[in-house]
This record gives sequence, structure tokens and C-alpha cells, in this order.
Amino acid sequence: MNRRTFLSVSALAGAGAVVAPQTAFSAVGSHPAGKPANAPIATRVLGRTGMRIPILSMGVMRADNPAVVRAAYRAGLTHFDTAHGYQNGKNEEMLGAFFQDKDRHSFTIATKGKANPSSDDFEQEYEALFTTSLRRLKMDYVDIFYFHAADDVETLTSPRLLTILKKFKDAGHARHIGFSTHAHKPAQIDAAIASGVFDVCLISYNFKLHILPELNAAIRRGVDAGMGFVAMKTMAGGAEDAEGHKRVDGAACLRWVWQNPDITTAIPGFTSFDLLDNCLEAAHAPDVTPSDADYLAGLQEKEMLYCQHCGNCVSQCVRHLPVPALMRAYMYTFGYKHPSLSKETLQELALTGNECAGCKTCTVHCPSGFKVAEKIAAIAPIVNVPSYYLA
Ligand code: SF4
Ligand code: SF4
Repeated sequence: MNRRTFLSVSALAGAGAVVAPQTAFSAVGSHPAGKPANAPIATRVLGRTGMRIPILSMGVMRADNPAVVRAAYRAGLTHFDTAHGYQNGKNEEMLGAFFQDKDRHSFTIATKGKANPSSDDFEQEYEALFTTSLRRLKMDYVDIFYFHAADDVETLTSPRLLTILKKFKDAGHARHIGFSTHAHKPAQIDAAIASGVFDVCLISYNFKLHILPELNAAIRRGVDAGMGFVAMKTMAGGAEDAEGHKRVDGAACLRWVWQNPDITTAIPGFTSFDLLDNCLEAAHAPDVTPSDADYLAGLQEKEMLYCQHCGNCVSQCVRHLPVPALMRAYMYTFGYKHPSLSKETLQELALTGNECAGCKTCTVHCPSGFKVAEKIAAIAPIVNVPSYYLA
């Protein structure tokens, strides 16, 4: 998307601005450093779940310091997002320890689990996974349980998956059911609507998306059907450049996301007090400024680190490698500075080395300009680095 198109699409997306009909304001404590909040943080309702939550939530994924979670909670954030696989379970354990003495009505929590609904032991394994997550969290229920990283419509609508998700909800262990997707295909949203099972969609949503008009229309169909939408990958890779040298302005990115009143909350993965402050600054003044719009428009033509997950490369690659997931692994190290997450991603893909070695010419032509073979060669060795060396 070029600069001019971006500005016109953003203007349309922002027609509802932050103070949309479903938006309210609530006073939410003070800044973690003790400074008074500049303004209350707006809250929105997450579709038919009825959960009213601040527009800023915490993606706990990479945080390993409970003091940052405490600061976020004290600053008025109430929704916390984790997953079964994050930090090999330590992320859920940290949240369980932090929240065990807190009023269960003072926060909401989401976790996620991935499994293959076509495997023989799927039901047994998925139930064991969810039970383990609840045990780590020291909770009887989670507010949202997401089927994690749904890549295609077939998996998302598998009868075996839908049956077990309904079972989790009927048993009261998941108040609401959702799915997360990096692929952000409108067809996935339409399939989720048709299933009637998914209350929430956790979706990649940022100013770099090429298919914004189609995606916004699908999100609107979801909202009309009662679904709630939570945004991740809001920083478009975390860096302004393809090398990951300069951190992106997170406040501008978040304000852009909140222009869309159909997005209830964003879950940036801040890991430090500085990054939390940057997000809070945005949440206390959530309207896009002219300088934000100019800044983000100026990044439109840059390569950056965000893979669109368009999937074009998979059929172009002679070995049909899972290139989008590999690009995500690359982004985790060079954008997020979090190599252990790259390693987890590569291990999930069961890749053991540079799968491009021996391929003379790369046949992939990426619309984002990614030199995918170079990126794969750069990230592949991390799978063999012992985890204790990785941040
Ligand atoms: S073609 Fe490029 S943008 Fe599309 S999924 Fe592949 S690497 Fe990502
Ligand atoms: S170099 Fe790698 S990504 Fe490119 S076609 Fe060969 S195997 Fe596929």
C-alpha cells in the first residue's frame, strides 16, 4: 500500500474514532511510576462475551518479570493474554503465581492451545493440554480459551475441534471460546461466524496490512454476528527497518489500531517498564495525531519485518517450506529481540537446520520484498543453540 492509499484507507477505518458507541471511559488507577494518569483509559465490550475491558491489554508472551505484570495491573489493565506453549509453560505459571491472591473478578485471562484435530489422540491430548494450563494458572476457568494459530479454514471448522471446544465451555472451564490466527484471512472469520462456536478472534492487525479493506469488512461481519476482536502483532514486527535496528513508535501503532472501533483491545507484548509506559502513554491519549499519521504513512514503502502471511511463497517454494512461519521466527529474533521464541517456533515446525541449503536459486517472489532464503539461512541455526543462551 502506498502512502496516499494508506492515508485514505486509514481515514475510512478511523471514521468511528476511539469514542465509538461501544466505548466507555473508566478511571484506572495511576501510572506505574506513580505519576497520575493523564486521562482515563477507554474500555470497550468484547462482542457477545459482554466482557468490558480497557483498549490496552497485556500480551504476556515474552514477559518473564512479574513486576511488569504487577505494574500493568496497577495501572488499570485488566486483561492478560498467555498461551500453553509460551516459555515452555513458565509464562502461565508466572501468571498463576501472580494472580493467586487477587480478586478473580478484577482481571480476565486468556490462554491458547494448539493441536492437530486430525491426529488419532487429539481429544485426549487437547484435554490434557487444557487441564495442564488450568493447573499452571491455578484457576478453575479461563475467560477465553483460544484454539491457537489456526492456519486454515479446514482445521478451524473440524467437527472434532468444535466438539471439544464446546465441551470445555459447557464444563465451565472456558467462559468463552476463540481462535487466534496469523493468517488473518477473511475466509477464516466467515467460517468462524458460520460455526457459531467462536466468540472471539485474536487477529494480527496493524498499519502494514495489505488487505486492510477486505479484512475490515470481514471483522465488521464478525462484529455484526456477535464476535469480539482482539488485536495482536500491532507493532508490525517491532522495528522500522528490515534489519531490526530502530524500534518502531509503539504508541503511534497502537493509536492506529484503536481507530477501528470493531477492535476491542490490543495485546502488545511489552516486557519492560519503559515499553509499558509507551503503551500507557498511547492508551491515555488514544486518538491518532497528525504526526502519527505522517509517521506511519512514511513507513508504508519500507520493507520492515512484518510478513503478511499471504501464503504466496509456499506454493512458489520448490520444497513448499512453511515460509510465513519462518518469517515470523525471523521477526521474533530481529524485531522482538526474543530468540527463544524463534527457537520455539522452529521446533514446532520440526525444522532442524537450514532447509534452503542446497537450493541453487530461490523461486520465491515475495510482495513485501523479503529475501526469504537469506532470512531462513539467518534464523535456522538458532534451533541448535541451547535454550539457556537465549533470551
Ligand atoms: S510471500 Fe512474503 S509476505 Fe507473503 S507470506 Fe510469503 S514471506 Fe510473507
Ligand atoms: S531457497 Fe529456500 S525458500 Fe527459496 S525456493 Fe529454495 S527451499 Fe524454497
